[in-house]
Amino acid sequence: MCLLLLCGCAVKYGQVDEEKAELINRNNELKRENTEKDQTISDLNSLIESLNKSVEDLQKEAEGLKDTIKSLEESIDVFENDSSGSGSKIAELEKTVADLQAQIEAQNELIVELENKKLIEFDPSIPYHTMYPDLYAELADEVVVPEGKTVYLTFDDGPSDRTDEILAILDQYNIKATFFVVPRRTDECFRRLRAIVDAGHTIGVHTYSHDYSIIYASVESYLDDFYKAYELIVEATGVKPDIFRFAGGSLNDKTYKIIAEMTRRGFTYYDWNASGDDSVSDPPPTVESIAQNSISWVMRRQEAVLLLHDEKKKTMTVEALPTIIETLMAEGYNFLPMNNKVTLYQQRKLK
Ligand SMILES: [Zn+2]
Repeated sequence: MCLLLLCGCAVKYGQVDEEKAELINRNNELKRENTEKDQTISDLNSLIESLNKSVEDLQKEAEGLKDTIKSLEESIDVFENDSSGSGSKIAELEKTVADLQAQIEAQNELIVELENKKLIEFDPSIPYHTMYPDLYAELADEVVVPEGKTVYLTFDDGPSDRTDEILAILDQYNIKATFFVVPRRTDECFRRLRAIVDAGHTIGVHTYSHDYSIIYASVESYLDDFYKAYELIVEATGVKPDIFRFAGGSLNDKTYKIIAEMTRRGFTYYDWNASGDDSVSDPPPTVESIAQNSISWVMRRQEAVLLLHDEKKKTMTVEALPTIIETLMAEGYNFLPMNNKVTLYQQRKLK
């Protein structure tokens, strides 16, 4: 009985030990788990800490960016103030330039007036004043300002094999134009000159030689060349031309004295303020380009003097002509022949 009891106690004690060991194990396990959790918490804390740090850094960065934006905005303000400042400075300078130009123009007009008075008087001591005593025209004393939009079609360098075609087109639209001619003593040329005059167009002198080295060598040389052309026109048509166009236009440094002399003789010269560019070589003209250039140039003007050419090779000018005429008619332009009462268009007056 006693042995049993002992055995029973021993068993009981053995169980307690086991339970104890188990509890210790469990405890150790929990401790380990706690340690692990602590570690995790500590890891999470340091993660949070580093995230906070990142947030802080980002905030700092954002602050920095704000500062940058602010200083950029300030720079823009400064720039805008600056450029508006320089804008008004430019406007101021432009006004000064415009004022100066107006002054120069007024002075030029005064000079022109003085030069005209001085140069227009006959002076027998000037050799070219005594040349060609019949080469005089009546200088227009009145000025005609056309009403509405006006275009003066002008054809240089004819007559040519194209003259009859040009005349037929002008006739078809019942409009008058101006021919600055380079005449020759041939039946064909005389016939064409007469056809121009008979149809009611204006005939003006262009040149005889069309050679700049001859024409612009001197005033005498200019008069020699001019007179040859003038004489042929008078002989062929009976009309004494009183207007002319310089070969190459008046804008060259040789025309100053010539203009004075021709003005003294009563002749009026005309340049142009619109061109079909039918004589340019680069790029070569086409029917479309001639029409387009003519139309767009004329449409920029209330009064336009359109330069075209009457030359054998220039078939494209003839082909472009109906489009030019029809378009400008539709735009409300009147077509007039030039005369010496028309005040435009001289690129260079006496200076
Ligand atoms: Zn010419």
